Amino acid sequence: MNPPADSQVGKAVKAADRAHVFHSWSAQGLIDPLPVAGAEGSYFWDYDGNRYLDFSSQLVNTNIGHQHPKVVAAIQAQAGKLCTIAPGFAVDVRSEAARLIAGRTPGDLDKIFFTNGGAEAVENAVRMARLHTGRTKVLSAYRSYHGATAAAINLTGDPRRWPSDTASAGVVHFWGPHLYRSHFHAETEAQECERALAHLEETIAFEGPQTIAAIILETVVGTAGVLVPPPGYLAGVRDICDRHGIVFVLDEVMAGFGRTGRWFAADHFGVVPDLLTFAKGVNSGYVPLGGVAISSEIAATFDRRPYPGGLTYSGHPLACASAVATINVMEEERIVENADRIGATVLGPGLRELAERHPSVGEVRGFGVFWALDLVKDKATREPLVPYNAAGDANAPMAAFAAACKKNGLWPFVNMNRAHVVPPCTITEAEAKEGLSALDAALSVADGHTTTA
Ligand code: PLP
Repeated sequence: MNPPADSQVGKAVKAADRAHVFHSWSAQGLIDPLPVAGAEGSYFWDYDGNRYLDFSSQLVNTNIGHQHPKVVAAIQAQAGKLCTIAPGFAVDVRSEAARLIAGRTPGDLDKIFFTNGGAEAVENAVRMARLHTGRTKVLSAYRSYHGATAAAINLTGDPRRWPSDTASAGVVHFWGPHLYRSHFHAETEAQECERALAHLEETIAFEGPQTIAAIILETVVGTAGVLVPPPGYLAGVRDICDRHGIVFVLDEVMAGFGRTGRWFAADHFGVVPDLLTFAKGVNSGYVPLGGVAISSEIAATFDRRPYPGGLTYSGHPLACASAVATINVMEEERIVENADRIGATVLGPGLRELAERHPSVGEVRGFGVFWALDLVKDKATREPLVPYNAAGDANAPMAAFAAACKKNGLWPFVNMNRAHVVPPCTITEAEAKEGLSALDAALSVADGHTTTA
């Protein structure tokens, strides 16, 4: 558990950070990073004695919680044995990690190309699709995130793309299904599904099917809102891809490895993509790792023709050892089943009960340990609590909500007008209830910004 607080050390850590660390996604002069002293299980703590229940899983990656002793031990053992070796060699932990991953991915996705994270997985999936088809264009959804490297950021369908969008990346965006904020004026899931598929067909017809290498979708859209596709949508996209010779890529960087209460979110929908990208939960981010699971047909394209891509640290032994240990621990401790059970029996019912009592909660959606509260000014109009991409004063209601969570010992995941409830897959019933009660208090602050206040 947490060692005694030492504020002086915390101050020194923060001072060096502010002097020398250049942070992601931030105006460097406007941020105030919390110095973290340690973490264990579902909690982390600072140097001032404050402890936080981690309802963010950091960046939705610590699926087995912080510092799982068996995974820490596996990394230590691997470090003592073989820290690094080039990707061209065959090595026990890399072979075993690939075998364990391929044994869990759907269908015939049996070959694994390892990367250092999610964005590189997406880059390589797109490259494989382009080489396999000889086509250039890639279709992706508005309301999506695929990473921050060149192709991945251009595929992304949220404002993080705008400053980097060259408008020349061969990417075309379309609308996926999202009934609560339907672009298709739909009133039922079935209508939303049918109309979203018709919209995609039409987009393909007008772009020219023979120009399209791939369609990439997050199986369940993560950062852009925990959008669970309606029944039939992903099967419909699979069918469209098959009819037009388009490679279907499912991005499971956030949704994979237990988050939805299945090994992969695709398992809920019975759909097998041609390529599946993963990262985060594969080893809970203990050592950077990602990858692409490849169908036999696409793998065969590169049987006699070299695949023109690689990374110095592809299949890094420390990362692979942590993946092997993580997957084994997830099996032994039935961690995927725990995520499913906690979602169905505690988080789902608990969040829906909060929605009934709080005027600021417009919709609750998700499953497993993958939930979003869509916060609104007004339940009837569904006007978001803050405008799309709000910053500064315009974002004050969400900032106040997040501050209230932290004050109550809960570290939230907040994006635009939403609070995502994404704790580790290992969360206990008692911890989930503790989190729900902190959310209850923080939602009263959000309620103060609704039209009913
Ligand atoms: N794809 C999805 C669905 C993601 O959620 C993310 C990160 O949040 C990425 C790709 C990029 O992964 P990374 O940050 O490891 O590059």
